[in-house]
Amino acid sequence: MPDAHDLSEQLPEREGMDYDVVVVGAGPAGLAAAIRLKQIAPDASVVVVEKGSEVGAHILSGAVIDPAGLDALTPDWRDDPERPLVTPVSEDRFYYLGHSGGLRLPNALMPPLMSNHGNFVGSLANVARWLGRRAEALGVEIYPGFSASELLFDENGAVRGIATGDMGVGKEGEMKPGFTRGMELRGKYTLLAEGARGSLTKLAVARYDLAAACEPQKYGIGLKELWQIDPALHKPGLVQHSFGWPLDNGTGGGSFLYHLEDGLVSVGFVVHLNYTNPTLSPFDEFQRFKTHPMIAPTFAGAKRIAYGARAITEGGWQSVPRLSFPGGALVGCAAGFVNVPRIKGSHNAILSGMLAAQHVADALAAGRQHDELVSYEEAWRDTAIGDDLWRVRNVKPLWSRLGTFFGVLVGGLDMWFNTLLRRSPLGTLSHGKPDHASLKPLAEVTPIVYPKPDGKLTFDRLSSVFVSNTNHEEDQPSHLRLADPTIPVRENLPLYGEPARLYCPAGVYEIVYGDEARRADPRFVINAQNCVHCKTCDIKDPAQNITWVPPEGGGGPNYPNM
Ligand SMILES: Cc1cc2nc3c(=O)[nH]c(=O)nc-3n(C[C@H](O)[C@H](O)[C@H](O)COP(=O)(O)OP(=O)(O)OC[C@H]3O[C@@H](n4cnc5c(N)ncnc54)[C@H](O)[C@@H]3O)c2cc1C
Ligand code: SF4
Repeated sequence: MPDAHDLSEQLPEREGMDYDVVVVGAGPAGLAAAIRLKQIAPDASVVVVEKGSEVGAHILSGAVIDPAGLDALTPDWRDDPERPLVTPVSEDRFYYLGHSGGLRLPNALMPPLMSNHGNFVGSLANVARWLGRRAEALGVEIYPGFSASELLFDENGAVRGIATGDMGVGKEGEMKPGFTRGMELRGKYTLLAEGARGSLTKLAVARYDLAAACEPQKYGIGLKELWQIDPALHKPGLVQHSFGWPLDNGTGGGSFLYHLEDGLVSVGFVVHLNYTNPTLSPFDEFQRFKTHPMIAPTFAGAKRIAYGARAITEGGWQSVPRLSFPGGALVGCAAGFVNVPRIKGSHNAILSGMLAAQHVADALAAGRQHDELVSYEEAWRDTAIGDDLWRVRNVKPLWSRLGTFFGVLVGGLDMWFNTLLRRSPLGTLSHGKPDHASLKPLAEVTPIVYPKPDGKLTFDRLSSVFVSNTNHEEDQPSHLRLADPTIPVRENLPLYGEPARLYCPAGVYEIVYGDEARRADPRFVINAQNCVHCKTCDIKDPAQNITWVPPEGGGGPNYPNM
């Protein structure tokens, strides 16, 4: 067995393949880009790499889907007997919840852009699977089970593709039997479609200073369960959102509850990651939400069949970084194209993939490569994506400044102004500091105490991870890297109680005491095999000490239809 520390010198050369376009991530954005490219330039060679074991395995969304993206990309989708969306929204409800009751907001007060009329409820993972089949039919090569782990650069510093991760590397970095070197996938252009907080996107943003002129990106953590409910209680197409309880007025977030087809209900909860109390646990807030007297009855006699979590971008218009860099571009949630008050990003993911593809196709037709797609960066604000984000740009800053109750009220008025007059008396508000800088020290907060789960309606983290079908090869280097391994116990524990224990929705991080009775000799333990790839730790760690890197390809959750 070769010595672990000499691995880099012993590594065999990587094999490589050349394409016109390399796409990282088989979500709606990446697949839309690939499909659009082949529609415009059928002879272009396009490859998509996906870290999930199959297309859709790592996609988690609500989802109420605005069909604007699909209509533009695949106008015939409604005629396809295998179409992924079959349930139109039938009813739209919005509630403000208190501890034991709630107030339904009249739909007439809501700005028209908030209406879900004409939208569909369904699984975004299944939309991605369907798009994957469409892409392959057009000749796109899709490689699921392969993480893009490195950006490759040419001699001028432009991106010239990606390398997939090596397979068969042991915990200490040693080569195991069956070790396989990663591949170089080289492209004239590389599109990063990794979704929220992509690992290569983070590197590209830093290297090319893409966030120099925008506000910090803001995020939420979204937790979701899929339930099979009593058919008598099922109302296909019902869409319900709430804000308020169980969060306090100073903590942003809210719930979604969608009645899909076949007796399925998708229920979820988003907590904005600028929360301040380090004893808050988004997972437990979600569990508590389901016990509300207006929510719990839906789940009488029901069975939970899936669980997962994923970060969602919330910064909107103000936080979109420069999209283009030498040799490539950002698309979809890698760029942060979510409309937060609508909790919708999949339509913009598709539209941005298409827009980038158009500019890539033009560049290829002109014989260009590895240069910057400046025209894509210059175009997006004047498209439907820009219009969608512009009209709601003040909503998130208002929630953060005024608290939920007044924030929702004033945010609603601001959306009316932007809809009717296309401008706001408030101009464009800023978001302020990044989410990792929002925690208050333990000494300044009232600790939150959560009820114990009952195992029927509410659950603990480990039984939840079980139904996410998460699986990682255990003998591999940790994909959760600490820049300074002493920070969790030396800084985060005394100051914040080590919030990673609580914000991680999968129980990955623990503080274990050598002497439990005296709570002495604390150690920070990382159970990396439980990770559901939500990226929250990379975002929220107050010291920005945790970096999420892709584990061996195919590892992670195996979501069926999330
Ligand atoms: C809880 C929640 C609820 C939501 N509800 C809605 C809703 O109701 N309606 C709506 O329209 N939107 C909703 N959204 C937003 C929507 O899910 C996103 O806007 C959309 O998924 C973005 O698409 P994307 O293709 O950019 O990224 P993703 O869908 O995240 O896809 C990215 C893909 O890239 C892969 N990947 C990432 N990094 C790598 C790598 N290095 N190598 C290989 N593969 C990689 C991932 O595995 C994934 O498959 C919700 C989001 C969340 C979290
Ligand atoms: S380790 Fe990080 S990325 Fe993985 S589930 Fe926990 S918070 Fe999410």
